[in-house]
Amino acid sequence: MKILVINSGSSSIKFQLLEMTDESVLALGLIERIGEKEGFIRCILHPETREKRTIERVELIADHKSGMHKAVGILTDSDTGVISSSADIKAVGHRVVHGGEAFHQPTLITDAVLAAIKQNIPLAPLHNPPNLDGILVAQNLFPGVPQIAVFDTAFHQSIPPHAFHYALPYELYEEQRIRKYGFHGTSHKYVANECAYQMGKSLERLNLITIHLGNGCSMTAIKNGRSVDTTLGLTPLEGLVMGTRSGDVDPAVHAYLARNCGMDIDSIDGMLNKESGLKGLCGMNDMRDIHDQIASGNERARLALEVQTYRNRKYVGAYLAVLGRVDAIVFTAGIGENDGVVRGKTLEGLEIFGISLDPVANNQRVKSPVLLSSKESRIQVWGIPTNEELAIARESKTVLEGC
Ligand code: AMP
Repeated sequence: MKILVINSGSSSIKFQLLEMTDESVLALGLIERIGEKEGFIRCILHPETREKRTIERVELIADHKSGMHKAVGILTDSDTGVISSSADIKAVGHRVVHGGEAFHQPTLITDAVLAAIKQNIPLAPLHNPPNLDGILVAQNLFPGVPQIAVFDTAFHQSIPPHAFHYALPYELYEEQRIRKYGFHGTSHKYVANECAYQMGKSLERLNLITIHLGNGCSMTAIKNGRSVDTTLGLTPLEGLVMGTRSGDVDPAVHAYLARNCGMDIDSIDGMLNKESGLKGLCGMNDMRDIHDQIASGNERARLALEVQTYRNRKYVGAYLAVLGRVDAIVFTAGIGENDGVVRGKTLEGLEIFGISLDPVANNQRVKSPVLLSSKESRIQVWGIPTNEELAIARESKTVLEGC
């Protein structure tokens, strides 16, 4: 069974075609700079085999529809393609960022589901519109093929009211649905499942802290396999220090900047999302550059690392308190998988809570699930690569089989 996974952004589409009988990747690709003068398509065919072949083209890609059309052209090319026709694709799984309170599970897309995704646009104005575009294009390109929405928020719908409510006037929740939703749910759920598999235990019996550290960062407290708290909030801005996003700040920062610096809402929002985090502190948002700069004595780069890892550690402490018993801590995503220094500083001084890393194991880039904790550590620490595309494909397959 072949499933196409689509992650449609405002000016780009990422896609992956998977053969679900063995979960192999037949092709993966990226369509970028949609709507600009010079668009870019990269498609890697058979990426996991010796027949691997990369196709790259720079050409005008007028819109999402034209981009997906070109991608399907590459996938079905009679000489080099990986499928003979688009009819080989049995389902299309879509990443949808905001499912609001309506969606607790991946869902077969109907007109009512499309309407609900549209209704959530005010909660994710940058993400849900391009996600919808991707769905409409795929419906058009693959008529009659089941389309499945996999929501970033769905895994966190189990968070209880005392953790998802903000202490704001209650009407803001009743009328505007202002509350914590949480994101990166597909990634947290995927690595939690992988961790349970590695530990040889059922996820329903495990308490975990999963830490997704990439350009976006979030941490989730998982009790008996269900998310009970997470750091991202109404939008993907709350919580940990990210590449360009601030994470937690005093909410009065908005009023202060408006009153004293003449900034309007859009510029404050843009600053908190795009000019803050690691980039705001030291001008760089790639952790590799930050380490290079620290090595040459850049104090701001060191500060950025210290601020991020201190915030991480503070939330680990909070989630130890939320969960009581913790069986394992999992690091994932670009920084979490690759950066032993960040992992080490995040868990520094927590031996008293039964957490200790094995320095040799921790000093590696994680390519497959690896135990990073020492033998003495009561709480295991794992590095587990995330794979959101595979997770979306698996969820889509499950929905399809239930139809
Ligand atoms: P992601 O959003 O999961 O793709 O992660 C992207 C981020 O991971 C980059 O911005 C880097 O900060 C970080 N990253 C990627 N590779 C490495 C590495 N080898 N060491 C440290 N950080 C890395």
